[in-house]
Amino acid sequence: MAAQVLSGHEAAEAVYEEIRARLRGLSFTPSLRVIRLGEDPASVAYVRLKDKRAKALGYRSQVEVYPEDLPEEALLERIAALNADEEVDGILVQLPLPPHIRTQRVLEAIHPLKDVDGFHPLNVGRLWSGGKGLFPCTPLGVVRLLKHYGVDLRGKEVVVVGRSNIVGKPLAGLLLREDATVTLAHSKTQDLPEVTRRAQVLVVAVGRPHLVRKAWVREGAIVVDVGVNRVEGRLLGDVHPEVAEVASALTPVPGGVGPMTVAMLMRNTLEAALLRRHGVSG
Ligand code: NDP
Repeated sequence: MAAQVLSGHEAAEAVYEEIRARLRGLSFTPSLRVIRLGEDPASVAYVRLKDKRAKALGYRSQVEVYPEDLPEEALLERIAALNADEEVDGILVQLPLPPHIRTQRVLEAIHPLKDVDGFHPLNVGRLWSGGKGLFPCTPLGVVRLLKHYGVDLRGKEVVVVGRSNIVGKPLAGLLLREDATVTLAHSKTQDLPEVTRRAQVLVVAVGRPHLVRKAWVREGAIVVDVGVNRVEGRLLGDVHPEVAEVASALTPVPGGVGPMTVAMLMRNTLEAALLRRHGVSG
């Protein structure tokens, strides 16, 4: 049995279509400001992609580039100015930041209503308490991708491998909100293949090329590969291609979760614009 390919490009296009329809009914244009420090090639590429997508939707998008040695205080001052700027709906500081900057301090400086990456503690709390807020783009993208392909998460046994604040932890929260039964595995999990074999839906966000083998996957499982690993100039996922022999559906790398992350950032920017104008109640 060949696994169905869950295309992130196709699902992302559906998100863009929805955004374009919503924009037609608005009297304003959402605006996004992305801050990048230094010239890390991956960060340069990701920021370019986000800016391009935002502009393609007609958003007002601007990228601010600063030298890698920008002092932390200067970055915080810039964020404070953008927080106060009525013209700015979404603020994103591209990670990772250089080591002299305390990332958490920077993330907490962004106004929660402009926090389009969803990393501010207030939004983290809202995710877990069931409230409305801005939530991290990659986990949102995973859930949206599954829904696009008609996967009903309710009551399902879902195993997430990886517990970062960016992917694994918020994804667990979102999956709970979808009534899935969630297991969050990580590097200290005992007998990981035994745990992953329980999954009806398996999401892998580790950062180890081809870690997950065929024997780790239940027959007919749906597998989402979040991993992006650069190996000798190629992009490899965390899931070995042989998994397609047992899974019923699988996301490709590239072309799976990656496009969904950008699409959900665009959606978050629109949500931020609306939340700031109309409030978070409801
Ligand atoms: P982190 O390095 O922050 O977290 C990795 C997680 O994997 C940790 O929880 C770690 O466990 C766990 N882990 C590490 N080794 C193992 C192992 N051998 N077995 C089980 N668990 C393990 O990574 P991120 O969450 O930021 O990213 C994960 C992957 O997803 C990367 O490849 C990244 O490039 C990709 N990514 C892709 C995105 C996209 O848009 N497609 C967006 C964001 C990330 P512990 O906590 O115990 O250390």
